[in-house]
Amino acid sequence: MNEFSLINKYFAESSFVRKDVIIGIGDDAAITQVPQNQSLATTTDTLLKGVHFLANTSPQDIAHKAIAVNLSDLAAMGAEPSWLSLSLTMPDADEVWLQGFSEKVAELTEYFSVQLIGGDTVKGPLSITITAQGFVPQDSVLTRDGAKNGDWIFVTGTLGDAGAGLDILRNKLTGDDASASDYLVARHRRPTPRVLAGTVLRRLASACIDVSDGLLQDVMHIAKASGTGVILHVDRLPISDALRSYVKDLHQAFGYAASAGDDYELLFTVPEEHRNTVQTALDSYSIMHTCIGQMTGAIGKLDLKLNEKPYTLYDCERVGYSHF
Ligand code: ADP
Ligand code: MG
Repeated sequence: MNEFSLINKYFAESSFVRKDVIIGIGDDAAITQVPQNQSLATTTDTLLKGVHFLANTSPQDIAHKAIAVNLSDLAAMGAEPSWLSLSLTMPDADEVWLQGFSEKVAELTEYFSVQLIGGDTVKGPLSITITAQGFVPQDSVLTRDGAKNGDWIFVTGTLGDAGAGLDILRNKLTGDDASASDYLVARHRRPTPRVLAGTVLRRLASACIDVSDGLLQDVMHIAKASGTGVILHVDRLPISDALRSYVKDLHQAFGYAASAGDDYELLFTVPEEHRNTVQTALDSYSIMHTCIGQMTGAIGKLDLKLNEKPYTLYDCERVGYSHF
């Protein structure tokens, strides 16, 4: 099977067709239309075998993660996703793999109402690069640099699940609760991008980031960009029942929640005057959210507290993920 028949068989037929795509897959470039008064948000993420996913990961889960991490970046800007491009490098035209991968791409593009508008297909070590684009009204972009001293720090969902799931897959974490284990591994393999939460937070949150490298590292990205410090209450970190059940030592669970990456929850700051509105709005969409701390004037400083007292993490070597 050559490159062209492969593209035609697996990617040319759009599972979701949008009116703002004038020319999709098939020509030399895609032609699209950005709505008036909207800004275009663009993000790219690469998943490399052995670095971002384990060698035995299914093509469905690779497709899920590749799309989810990109949509999560858009969500963190308050953008609603519209288009995807897919650059696929694979060692051979493995049709079973392509079938599983392309079916998941089709399922998720439909679920999130986004259209695959192009890409590239080359031979080489397995690597998936997706570029995602989306729209956000010009005056309501969420950035990392808008937090102020006194703003409340919130996070969606629960933290630490994906990190524990990865450690289970690597045999670094063991336990006897099989259903908790399944849940944690699923959170690692198939993260949920908080697309709706991102749009709800427009004009309400003062800063926003998605938790990809670990809470402590990502909250400090906001603090540094905004020129603030941070107080985090470790006892208030949202921990799932599964993580609590699987990791019996609560301090180890706090360690996962604070420093493990790949949760893809939204971390955002909210000025006091918007706090009630944000909580009501997120509640109305049943989006779980928890206030875990506050921005301070102590620029660049991170204070961890447990029951209001200074706290040092169990495993303070692990402050988040960095490639280099
Ligand atoms: P060119 O040689 O002009 O770059 P290609 O043969 O690489 O064209 O691609 C042909 C068409 O198929 C283009 O519209 C391109 O965007 C699309 N395409 C190629 N690979 C993929 C892929 N993996 N997923 C989606 N679209 C793809
Ligand atoms: Mg090409």
